[in-house]
Amino acid sequence: MENKLMLMIPGPTPVPEQVLLAMAKHPIGHRSGDFSKIMAEVTDGLKWLHQTQNDVLSLTVSGTGAVEAAIINFLSPGDRVLVGSNGKFGERWVEVAQAYGLAVEPITAEWGQPLDPETFRETLEADTEKTIKAVIITHSETSTGVLNDLETINRHVKAHGEALIIVDTVTSLGSYNLPIDALGLDVVASGSQKGYMVPPGLGFVAVNARAWEAYKTAKLPRFYLDLGKYRKDAAKNTTPFTPPVNMFFGLQVALRMMQAEGLENIFARHQRLTSATRAAVKAMGLPLFAPDHAASPAITSVIPDRVDAEQIRAVMKKRYDIVLAGGQDHLKGKIFRIGHLGFVSDRDILTAIGALEATLQELGYESFTPGAGVAAAAKVFATS
Ligand SMILES: *Cc1c(COP(=O)(O)O)cnc(C)c1O
Repeated sequence: MENKLMLMIPGPTPVPEQVLLAMAKHPIGHRSGDFSKIMAEVTDGLKWLHQTQNDVLSLTVSGTGAVEAAIINFLSPGDRVLVGSNGKFGERWVEVAQAYGLAVEPITAEWGQPLDPETFRETLEADTEKTIKAVIITHSETSTGVLNDLETINRHVKAHGEALIIVDTVTSLGSYNLPIDALGLDVVASGSQKGYMVPPGLGFVAVNARAWEAYKTAKLPRFYLDLGKYRKDAAKNTTPFTPPVNMFFGLQVALRMMQAEGLENIFARHQRLTSATRAAVKAMGLPLFAPDHAASPAITSVIPDRVDAEQIRAVMKKRYDIVLAGGQDHLKGKIFRIGHLGFVSDRDILTAIGALEATLQELGYESFTPGAGVAAAAKVFATS
């Protein structure tokens, strides 16, 4: 059936009708007073969402562009950086840092496991000469569904005293309580198509005063991604280059929706969706890929052992119009991932789990009691 597509991938995520309608308008001039008014409201909303008084800058880029900007504006060629790498995105930040000539030391963990904060502590404590300039961390590693222990790693970075902490929060911002100022996170990057309930096209970078100090002496090349330009123009509620003005129409409405729901409720909802999904998957006898203590609030990865992950995705799509994500790189064909980020409700999870049960039955997987997954999810919803 057409027009019944249900996106359960970790980005792009579903977009509310109000947001789509707000975007379905003629563009306005980006140097107009009308646009400045929208940008002022959006910037305030972004600061609220980031729990920061500092700058949150909007760039016309995907999430990768936002993280690249977060890295290159504060460092110089040859700077020593520690980069957490336990999935596709961590690997990407290693590559970006290498492409810009930084002295990269990846700190790795197996895909599906969280980074070990102790390795960061040991490396940072051993650096008595203070040669480490930045620690780059992917908070929610979307490729595996692992949430890294940002709070503990950040404490070790703070104890070091010199290094900046630069964080990819692309799938944790808007799904997990991340009080950026309270934690003292220096640079935080995210993208519109994930927790923001708007389509792809905008990237966001939050920058604190410590990072702006580093910006002054940073020598990596930058032009389009030069955050100083965005900061200067943001003070006048404008942007250095033409922004996707219709995206701002949508983001304005999405931020109002988020403010009406409230941060605590948003985080609690994502926690509930995660718990329900994981309980359901367990009840169906399917192994979860990420451990309970490091479960991403945005995405649940499943590594089915007796039924083919790609076949599950194919039936879910063909028969139920539900799109699940597959695995990336060596996990292709081995795992599938259920996104529950952004504009996702309890009902969406019941629907997806019900369809997943039906799919498993169609594929002849018989190691579970039909209805067990839905019942487990319903139990979580009844009690939280
Ligand atoms: C989606 C995502 C990104 C950015 O990907 P783009 O395709 O460039 O938007 C970065 N990091 C994480 C953890 C992501 O999930």
